[in-house]
Amino acid sequence: MRNVFIFLGPPGAGKGTQALKVSQELEIPFISTGDMLRNAVKKGTTLGKEAGEYMKKGELVPDEIVIGIIKERLREDDCRKGCILDGFPRTRTQAEALNKIVEDMGNSKIITFFIDVPDDEVIARNTKRRVCANCGAVYHLENNPPSKRGICDSCGGELVQRNDDKEEVVRERLRVYKEKTYPLLEFYRDKGLVTVEGVGEIEEVYSRIISKIKELDKA
Ligand code: AMP
Repeated sequence: MRNVFIFLGPPGAGKGTQALKVSQELEIPFISTGDMLRNAVKKGTTLGKEAGEYMKKGELVPDEIVIGIIKERLREDDCRKGCILDGFPRTRTQAEALNKIVEDMGNSKIITFFIDVPDDEVIARNTKRRVCANCGAVYHLENNPPSKRGICDSCGGELVQRNDDKEEVVRERLRVYKEKTYPLLEFYRDKGLVTVEGVGEIEEVYSRIISKIKELDKA
């Protein structure tokens, strides 16, 4: 059985960080719609130009665009052992499309993690997040600072604040999350939803996730 793991939670819950660690542990691809869209924006492709308009306002990119991207990506060979999705699905339409894609893949199952983090923590985390402009590594000014201010530990690149991590945009992303994505918890509740307490050090949250995965493996 190949597992497609999805990570739900408010913006800045640590989904990307945790999803990446789990993908390294399980040796399956890490697929982030946010990263794919940001790449398209950087390259200035037609898709990037369209998506960028929504992203800079903190709005969701239209379903048909992201569903198309994910559908294509999941068809690639490296997803044969399963994969980790970060930032997808975010709407009911995307969740239904994913069910269909996974069903068509055959012998596959969706496992959903919900990383639970309260609102005030969400605002603090996002506005203090910095990312490496070169390699994409993620830092936090308080919880996970770089050794040298403004410089990436891994590659020496410059650390920047994502445009959508500015406070007014974060508040809008949180509002959109509550309206469109939070209801997905109901959608997945009877389909193997695993809730993990998202407050704490990165390693603490990670070990909560890994122990749940081990429990699922035994079941
Ligand atoms: P993220 O890095 O996951 O927080 O995504 C950054 C931005 O990309 C979001 O605020 C959306 O504008 C867009 N985006 C990423 N994934 C999706 C998705 N599944 N559906 C719609 N928009 C998305």
